[in-house]
Amino acid sequence: MSSSFVTRRTFLKTGSLAGAAVLTGGAAGARRRQGPVVIASANGAGCVAEAMRHIQEGADALDAVVAGVNLVEEDPQDTSVGYGGLPNAEGVVQLDSAVMHGPTGRAGAVAALEGIKYPSRVAHVVLQRTDHVLLVAKGAQAFARMHGFPVENLLTERARQIWVRWRENLSTQDDYLPPHGPDDIDIGEAFKRTQEHWGTIHCSAIDLGGNISSVTTTSGLAFKVPGRVGDSPIIGAGLYCDNEVGAAGSTGRGEANLESLASFLIVERMRAGDSPEEACLAACQRIADQTRLRRLQNERGEPAFNVSFYALNQAGEVGGARIRGAGGRMAVADGDGARMVELAHLYD
Ligand code: ASP
Repeated sequence: MSSSFVTRRTFLKTGSLAGAAVLTGGAAGARRRQGPVVIASANGAGCVAEAMRHIQEGADALDAVVAGVNLVEEDPQDTSVGYGGLPNAEGVVQLDSAVMHGPTGRAGAVAALEGIKYPSRVAHVVLQRTDHVLLVAKGAQAFARMHGFPVENLLTERARQIWVRWRENLSTQDDYLPPHGPDDIDIGEAFKRTQEHWGTIHCSAIDLGGNISSVTTTSGLAFKVPGRVGDSPIIGAGLYCDNEVGAAGSTGRGEANLESLASFLIVERMRAGDSPEEACLAACQRIADQTRLRRLQNERGEPAFNVSFYALNQAGEVGGARIRGAGGRMAVADGDGARMVELAHLYD
């Protein structure tokens, strides 16, 4: 971290644990736009290329980013988004998604949506064909059916098996038994949530007309309490976009982001002069400062979980940051082609 950054930035000076912040410098930040730009979370390498292809053909940024994330929504191998996403505690896949369109300032979103493979497309239709922003659960599905979306079984065999393994190993006190032998006594190991139970895709873009739009789509936290909604479909949390300033989106522990509205914060910090990477680090710091419950902290008092942010500004600069750990990445496509770039991080 450069010392000039520390002196310049009040948030890092005042942040209680700020000393650990690491900027990636030129890799992800400070890149002037020569044309359109697309960014996405690390699972969006194909997504940014697809969105860029649509933009180069003249598509509006919102149409392009939705087309990009559709690739991941329909991919049964990605267990964190759309078809093949891990289900809730009852084995039902419930999807969340939101879109935001910079030129009109309009947003659309769906939450706890069941049976529809492309929740981002439904969110887009909410934006286009209602006077509302957010539809949930049965109402969201009825709206999707009204607009011709087929209702399908989204629980793939792979996701079902992972869910059954989770359920059978949840407790040694219930009557669900994982595979066991005749001599086994304590059947069912303590279940631990791991990183593979998180995941989402965020994508934002600037199109040929210089307009900005964003989308975030997810199956949310694996094995969640039925009806639980994360940050992804909440405007200002899972994504935010202002055509005059830039856009931001998130992946990771949604509850922490819901209590900080960090995508809105990132766009406002960019409006005040932060680079995308600085603004994303500020959002990480805000979450760290707000994480006061001991059960959410590690032995050093730092957040024990991760949230990642991805941002671009009107000038076409891109950057991202996450709370914990080097090695985080984001996907970027611009005039130089598609590539992965490093995220800054707050704590090692
Ligand atoms: N942010 C998502 C949620 O909380 C999950 C994730 O990105 O892993 O639903």
